[in-house]
Amino acid sequence: MSFAELGLAPELLRAIADEGYTQPTPIQAQAIPMVIAGRDLLAAAQTGTGKTAAFTLPILQKLNSVPSVAGARLARVLVLVPTRELAAQVGESVRTYGRHLPAMKTAIIFGGVGINPQIDILRRGVDIVVATPGRLLDHVQQKTVNLSGVQMLVLDEADRMLDMGFIRDIRRVLAVLPKQRQNLLFSATFNGEIRSLAESLLHNPASVEVAPRNSAVETIAQRVHPVDKARKTALIAHLVKQGDWKQVLIFTRTKHGANRLAEQLAREGIASDAIHGNKSQNARTRALADFKAGKVRVLVATDIAARGIDIDMLPHVINHELPNVPEDYVHRIGRTGRAGSSGEAISLVSSDERQQLKDIQKLLRREIPSSFVEGFAPGSQPSAAELAVRAATPAAPQHARPHGGQHRPQQRPGGSPGGRRPGNATRSADGQRQGQGRPQRSAGDARKAR
Ligand code: AMP
Repeated sequence: MSFAELGLAPELLRAIADEGYTQPTPIQAQAIPMVIAGRDLLAAAQTGTGKTAAFTLPILQKLNSVPSVAGARLARVLVLVPTRELAAQVGESVRTYGRHLPAMKTAIIFGGVGINPQIDILRRGVDIVVATPGRLLDHVQQKTVNLSGVQMLVLDEADRMLDMGFIRDIRRVLAVLPKQRQNLLFSATFNGEIRSLAESLLHNPASVEVAPRNSAVETIAQRVHPVDKARKTALIAHLVKQGDWKQVLIFTRTKHGANRLAEQLAREGIASDAIHGNKSQNARTRALADFKAGKVRVLVATDIAARGIDIDMLPHVINHELPNVPEDYVHRIGRTGRAGSSGEAISLVSSDERQQLKDIQKLLRREIPSSFVEGFAPGSQPSAAELAVRAATPAAPQHARPHGGQHRPQQRPGGSPGGRRPGNATRSADGQRQGQGRPQRSAGDARKAR
């Protein structure tokens, strides 16, 4: 199966060739003809499967075949995504694949940056709007975007949007769209909430599924290293140095944990940076660019900040802690082994994380191979050098602690390096995905949390 056989326009085939793609990925082969034919689509596809092109290419094809009405340039396509990073990346893909269709205009709309440049772009008229729900609603309220011409709606990473509490924002957006439109829903995982959203949104959808539901991408080698909690950072430094790893994405559960880990690795002589919701958009963009360019070897990220990070052939992903929500494990390791390249996902698991590991293995329906790293088996003694590095990076806990935990900061009861409190909700220290308080949160508040 070739891209030409999918019925794509010559301008799109040129852009695909520019990218060096020789053949469609399975999701592209299945989805593109359905979307061109005007069907609603329910797609089970993780990041790394080529899903962005699977909706972007047929959208561009359809827009190109029906020119916009002269004068009234209303957005005809709306793509909703959960995070700023994903908005930027989807927007970039639209521009990449549409580069030989110069008349096509795209607006990328997300919060955390000034609204006025977005208003200017929208005012000049656009064909495609790629947006996070909160900021889009700001534009709707201020009447700076007109969605009455939307013919196609894409919900990308819909599961993540629901996880982030966007369901009411999504419904508010749906309420201002024309009833007659084509709807595409992409999601890596499917639970009851996603199913009911799909049922209310999609009409007689074609469904495509490229990886077995809720299973991790097959090309990724997964491994668990049991280790004492206090020695995880030293083990990471050891693995990175030993394997001479050049590009490693590490997940921590908290923003503070991310900062601390990046700091400790830097002390070990490993160029590292952290991205999370407390960093400005510019700082995040810069960190990501440095990571992609190889200036920074290790990027430490929280789950939300890492969403949508798109790096070709990212070889190593490490879970400094396992996520509490098993689906997040699938999302995290989906950052590696993208589009057919092989990758490795390593999870450092301390004794208090056994339950999370069980839950993840249950979701995957398989056991993840587990092995000790020499010198780091639980109960083995750290070297003096390791203790020195640990002591040199004082914990900066969220609550004032009288003596900073300088000696054994990681050993406070139930605490992770990030100050996670025992029994607390997932990523509570990130202010994300907490059941409590969400109903009162405004769209603006929800955006601040990321
Ligand atoms: P996505 O799942 O949309 O995040 O895409 C994952 C990666 O696969 C991106 O870096 C794309 O550039 C790349 N990609 C998309 N389609 C193809 C293709 N047909 N052949 C090779 N790489 C692709």
